[in-house]
Amino acid sequence: MHCQSCDWAIETAQVDLSEIPPRCGCGGFLRPDCIFFGELIPHEALFRSQQVSAACDVMLVIGTSATVQPAASMPFIARDNGAVVIEINPEPTSLTQRISHLPLMGAAGTILPRLVGTIRQRLATP
Ligand SMILES: [Zn+2]
Repeated sequence: MHCQSCDWAIETAQVDLSEIPPRCGCGGFLRPDCIFFGELIPHEALFRSQQVSAACDVMLVIGTSATVQPAASMPFIARDNGAVVIEINPEPTSLTQRISHLPLMGAAGTILPRLVGTIRQRLATP
């Protein structure tokens, strides 16, 4: 979490919750270190996400409608730069036909353990 007034940061597990909302020593409110719906993504975080998307070999797109920007553009950036895009979703999205190399339709809780198991098996096989 971080302070909205002075930007001091603290691990969530260390926050004193005897007062709600929790406060910083300066008197400012502590908030989770994340972006809420409707808030702007910090420029540095967005730039870094675009860089990592362009550099990855494989992108896993899991449990998303793939409609909220700018996150929805990351699979396009990855694919345009040569990455394999694996989509795990219970329902098809706008990515399924155009962007995903390997659409795996189903619940992430079911598909991911099977995917990890298969990869482990293949890595163990000489
Ligand atoms: Zn503070």
